[in-house]
Amino acid sequence: MQKAGGAYASGTVGYVLSVLRMVIAGGLLWWNFDALTSPERVWIAFFFALLIIRLPYHEQSKSVDTAVDQREGQERVLIAGIFLTIWPLPLLYLVTKGGPFDVLSFANYTLLFDTSVLGLILFVPFAYLFWRSHADLGRNWSPSLEMREEHQLVANGVYKRVRHPMYAALWIYAIAQPLLVQNLIAGGAVVVAFAALYVLRVPKEEEMMLREFGDEYRAYMERTGRIFPKFS
Ligand code: SAH
Repeated sequence: MQKAGGAYASGTVGYVLSVLRMVIAGGLLWWNFDALTSPERVWIAFFFALLIIRLPYHEQSKSVDTAVDQREGQERVLIAGIFLTIWPLPLLYLVTKGGPFDVLSFANYTLLFDTSVLGLILFVPFAYLFWRSHADLGRNWSPSLEMREEHQLVANGVYKRVRHPMYAALWIYAIAQPLLVQNLIAGGAVVVAFAALYVLRVPKEEEMMLREFGDEYRAYMERTGRIFPKFS
């Protein structure tokens, strides 16, 4: 009982803090909006979609108990890398751009074509897959290598033909960001951070799922692709 009460309180506080963070970020971006290029403005849509789609699932996940926790040192470093590069660094860059604290400008590059439309095209599968993967996983979702109490294997919805639709969504985000935010650190570093997370985590996650679900997951692996759908 005590746990549920605590989780409720932390959930409400969590919501308020997350919304406050979005309002502050939005205000800062608005304040520097004139200094931004149109691809950078498209990045803002990715940023808000990322935070807004995840928010309710993140808060909900705090009240679901963990049965298996595989978050060791390496996993923590990987999460820190992706956490920093996916939005705080680009946000810092865009908010300081053109001003006296524009410290990352030495790493700028310019692509030869306007990437805004490409960014908007990539936004659609990103937002759809990111939203549906959270919705389909429901209480089984966790931001890290964990198994929940009474964890169930999800093999329908966007999980029907692909085992890692959420990572597919994040790949799209990681590819779009350097196209939109043309700075090696603020825009490009996420590719390295996410590639490391993907390469190192996916085999461990699949091993964990195999240990938990055995033949059921083995059969699921045979009829699905990792991030590209398998039709057979
Ligand atoms: N790799 C998946 C899920 C990412 S969330 C994707 O990219 O869509 C990470 C957590 O989801 C893992 O720790 C694991 O506990 C859980 N998970 C992964 N695949 C799952 C599945 N098919 N059914 C239920 N839980 C799953």
